Amino acid sequence: MRIFSSTQVLPNEGSDPKATESFGVYVHIPFCAQRCDYCAFSTWTDKGHLVARYIDACLVEIGRAQRDGVLGSCTTVFIGGGTPSFIGAAPLCRIIEALPCANDVEITVECNPESTTPELLRSLELAGVTRISLGVQSFSEHVLKSLGRTGDPTDAARAVSMIGAAGFTNFNVDLIFGGAGESASDWAESLERATTLDPVPPHISAYALSVERGTPLSRDFSRHPNDDVLADRYAFCDAYLSDAGYSWYEVSNWAKRGHECRHNVDCWAQGDYLGIGCSAHSHLDGKRFANTRVPERYINAIEHGRSPLETTETLAGNDRVIEALELALRTRWGVPNWALPNDPDLKGLVVRRGGRAVLSVKGRLLMNEVALRLQCPPSGDPTPETQTPTLGGLFDTAIA
Ligand code: SF4
Repeated sequence: MRIFSSTQVLPNEGSDPKATESFGVYVHIPFCAQRCDYCAFSTWTDKGHLVARYIDACLVEIGRAQRDGVLGSCTTVFIGGGTPSFIGAAPLCRIIEALPCANDVEITVECNPESTTPELLRSLELAGVTRISLGVQSFSEHVLKSLGRTGDPTDAARAVSMIGAAGFTNFNVDLIFGGAGESASDWAESLERATTLDPVPPHISAYALSVERGTPLSRDFSRHPNDDVLADRYAFCDAYLSDAGYSWYEVSNWAKRGHECRHNVDCWAQGDYLGIGCSAHSHLDGKRFANTRVPERYINAIEHGRSPLETTETLAGNDRVIEALELALRTRWGVPNWALPNDPDLKGLVVRRGGRAVLSVKGRLLMNEVALRLQCPPSGDPTPETQTPTLGGLFDTAIA
């Protein structure tokens, strides 16, 4: 049972958005050519020899999930990492072919500019991939260097041109702001270059650089971002992208209408998804669980007939409602008015209209402060919107 149907939140989703239940699959590819200095993801640069066994293990996990009845017809698939493009098309296509997909499935593959080739894109397109997410991060060479990234900005422009030539009309460009040495004009230039690529990306994700424990960046205080600078960069980004025809639909995501990432929207709508591979997280009917983080342990568990699961958590009652609200708060659809009190501290942080409370730009910068004030619906309220645990209609009203 789902708390609410995430398909209700999606704009322009066809004639009857409630006809299809969403079900996502996330596949984790834990391999990269080089580790970026800020990265704390589950990925390795010295385990390329494991790729074939790893993909075999993923296929076994998919088969088991089908046998156990926990893998429904996928409406979205997201292959992330790591750098999926780094391992080439053939292993990725094996995984895609093994997944039972709905006719209108959205399949996203993350790529890095340096490992994107016409051959890779052609194979992915033939395998049914509908969306590419390209990790560009910056169009300033010195900022890329300060982030510990390989490649240069011309790689990104070349990769986008290949994406267009391969026939992809749906793709994302990832950017990061707040890198050491990045000036306000560097960031403006990155946004300008990103929004004038050929073809123009219909989706842009922009993330504040965050310092993760254990990374080279965390040990180098001289490269830590300044909070005030990050806030300025974010506000500039939102204004710039809005002027360029993109709408924000989640704190770090902007899209041209109809190009929102369905997979991520379903996750923010607390929908069901199954994670495949090491470190992959799943959510099924209020249960959250995650696979073991290290590829060798994941492969060994699968090869010996054991479960790769490492953590499980069941959310029930108000905990599940609050989680749903926390996720919804991130989005442009916001939360029902009852979910946030009329607290003077929230003045200027949320905008209330159409029965909903949506974060303002300032509110997005202080989202955690706002989220602390989320509350469950009043008991005994007869309106469908406030009956819990069924929050049908939570996302019914899209607010632009
Ligand atoms: S390419 Fe992405 S996943 Fe790989 S190290 Fe860099 S940030 Fe991490």
